[in-house]
Amino acid sequence: MKSVDAHLAEILATVRPLAPLELDLEQVLGATLAEDVSSPVPLPPFDNSAMDGYAVRADDLPEVPVTLPVIDDVAAGSTELRAVGPGHAVRIMTGAPLPAGADTVVPVEWTDGGTVSVRIDRRAEAGNAIRRAGEDVQAGDVVLKAGTVIRPAQLGIIAGVGRRRVKARPRPRVVVLSTGAELVEPGSPLATGQIWESNSYTLTAAVREAGADGYRAGSVADDPAELLDRLDTHLVRADAIITSGGVSMGAYEPVKEALSPLGTVRFEKVAMQPGMPQGFGVLGDDQVPIFALPGNPVSSFVSFVLFVRPALDRMRGLPSGMPEFVTARAAGPLRSPSGRRSFLRGVLAPDGTVTPVHGQGSHQLAALAVADALIVVPEEVTEVAAGATVEVIKL
Ligand code: AMP
Ligand code: MG
Repeated sequence: MKSVDAHLAEILATVRPLAPLELDLEQVLGATLAEDVSSPVPLPPFDNSAMDGYAVRADDLPEVPVTLPVIDDVAAGSTELRAVGPGHAVRIMTGAPLPAGADTVVPVEWTDGGTVSVRIDRRAEAGNAIRRAGEDVQAGDVVLKAGTVIRPAQLGIIAGVGRRRVKARPRPRVVVLSTGAELVEPGSPLATGQIWESNSYTLTAAVREAGADGYRAGSVADDPAELLDRLDTHLVRADAIITSGGVSMGAYEPVKEALSPLGTVRFEKVAMQPGMPQGFGVLGDDQVPIFALPGNPVSSFVSFVLFVRPALDRMRGLPSGMPEFVTARAAGPLRSPSGRRSFLRGVLAPDGTVTPVHGQGSHQLAALAVADALIVVPEEVTEVAAGATVEVIKL
């Protein structure tokens, strides 16, 4: 059997970071910057008021209260500004440019709020409530480095330096397809022998959580020809494909039957539990990676965490490898088959203990849904005593 590490290594050696594109601001959330972004101008671009108040000269406030004539009113966006002479005040709003001559802003709360003249009750030091040009960013400063994932705040600074497009690796587009003649869409009634289809929902959601675009392509019955046909229609718009089901040892394994003859997808036993049967390879002229995951819901989910998620990181141009481990203490004894790495579903407590959930079968979706961790038991270990230290992957 192939080791988990060898399987992941093969996957990471095959998938490539997606080529950078010029992406519009509207499309760039979740993408990975492929250039340094700098600002063409200082930010703020001009001295402006940090508060609603009055722009005055600090020297005119030796003693308060003092009443000054209000000679102008400037709002944010004002372009025609009258200079503030000695003994004058200009009513000013947050974000409005500071008029020449003024060196301080008195917040409206320290005044009577007058519009013809204003009584100032409290002294403001020079520089008060003024946002200086360039105090956030100097012209030419790099504000985001290549390799940064664009999240909301990063999107904000890209827009804030006036860029409409940036060079970035897009979110991978991942098509998720289930196989199985027994599968029925949730919301439809079940006939004998049928179950509701769940993997495509889980896997598409997991793709999205991993920072990629998941497209749920529904399910196909166990017909290799139909599967090939469906894959063909999706290949044109996919950076990766995930299938579930149809890869194990039985009859009617459509994924294996359809893809094995192509010679570009290998089906192997990986020394793990759950998730032993795994298919991986590439399809089509563009060598689109395909992850042919086992059908049992827990198996396909664990396989996603171990193999697909790191591959998506790599496609996004991010560091990729085994999920991070944390150490925990086993709350009870654990069992694991010899020669296979187990990923037992568990609940991690704040005190650092991890309790295996009841129901460790690879079909036990409800047990998976209450777990928040995978307890990793190494290949050579078959029993773990209560209280022993274990490695855990947080879900
Ligand atoms: P397979 O790998 O196709 O033999 O499927 C293994 C088990 O997983 C069978 O019990 C299937 O019914 C179940 N299964 C496969 N695909 C799905 C799916 N998309 N949703 C829920 N269960 C599934
Ligand atoms: Mg099946």
